[in-house]
Amino acid sequence: TKRIRLAVIPGDGIGTEVVEAGLRIINHLAEASNGKFEFESDFFPWGCEYYLEHGKMMEEGGVERLRGYDAIYFGAVGFPGVPDHVSLWGLRLAICQGFDQWANIRPIEFLPGVPRRLNHPDVDSLNWVLIRENSEGEYSGIGGRNFSGRGLGKEVAVQSALFTEHGCERIIRYAFDLARTRKRKKVTSITKSNAQQYGMVLWDEVFSRVSKDYPDVETDQWLVDAAAAQFVLKPEELEVVVASNLFADILSDLGSALAGSLGLAASANINPEGNTPSMFESVHGSAPDIAGQGISNPIGAIGSAALMLDHLGLNEEAELINKAIAETTRQGILTRDLGGTYNTDEITDSIIENLSKVKAEI
Ligand code: NAD
Ligand code: MN
Repeated sequence: TKRIRLAVIPGDGIGTEVVEAGLRIINHLAEASNGKFEFESDFFPWGCEYYLEHGKMMEEGGVERLRGYDAIYFGAVGFPGVPDHVSLWGLRLAICQGFDQWANIRPIEFLPGVPRRLNHPDVDSLNWVLIRENSEGEYSGIGGRNFSGRGLGKEVAVQSALFTEHGCERIIRYAFDLARTRKRKKVTSITKSNAQQYGMVLWDEVFSRVSKDYPDVETDQWLVDAAAAQFVLKPEELEVVVASNLFADILSDLGSALAGSLGLAASANINPEGNTPSMFESVHGSAPDIAGQGISNPIGAIGSAALMLDHLGLNEEAELINKAIAETTRQGILTRDLGGTYNTDEITDSIIENLSKVKAEI
């Protein structure tokens, strides 16, 4: 029996609901595996409630406590009452940067049965992967406020973006390596190097240099403003998309909405060196507007569990999850964000049922 130790951080709002759904799926698979693998899940009750009680988002040395786990399964952070920058930096970014999970992988699939937001003749063939630089860029945390000598009402704040050649190169290479394994073998790099003449120009130069090592991979480069339009107007041009921390963050919300809903998108924060645990989470946040009602879409979190199993070497099980998700949406079993009437538990029940169905079909 392969014993997998998971650190589970449900976090806030619908994070707790969707993580529960994801754990139901993987525990079901473990039970059905006839002893091939089992999960040992330790729960860490960190987040905004913890903050209101203890004055910090996680316990002292929290990141270190996660080091020995095989993977981290994460819900979402953020809730009214705690400033968003406090909750994000105190937990999610602390873990991503603490473990140098520098590659954030965000696949976007157009699932059957989901109402289309994109008017395109061949929408079913679309399949994107956003590769987000996850360790520096606009989320470097470098900056400051309250520069002296300006006077009341004249505060100045600086928020710097950090781009290192090493950081650019490793994420760009990651994108090229991934593109090689895919159908079209194409990488699109997105920057704003016309306006941002230092970091983004460095990125472009590294992109051009690295691309020479991959003559079999087609390349494309867009400025981010035009890229936002191209996502809608020429979606078939996209396959693997690589961008900085902020730009890929924005474009992945756009991409997942075009594919149906923010609730569909899965993500993996990977440390490709493998010497620290990687973290798996849906792309969306804690959605305080619908939290506690049991109506959140768990597909992003369940897809993230599939990415986690794949990362842990359980590739067949990961594929089963993705097929079962597609079968559930194909049957029109959808949450409200997709125009359906089913709740979180019902979607999860359906995916569990479909796990057996798709397994029998293989
Ligand atoms: P959000 O993703 O939480 O919600 C945006 C909209 O999408 C809301 O209307 C919400 O109801 C809807 N939505 C999101 N996920 C859904 C799902 N699974 N099913 C159905 N509908 C869904 O973004 P926001 O409102 O900008 O942020 C809310 C909080 O989440 C903030 O505190 C923010 O900082 C935090 N946040 C955290 C993460 C993270 O932990 N990784 C990511 C993004 C935002
Ligand atoms: Mn985001």
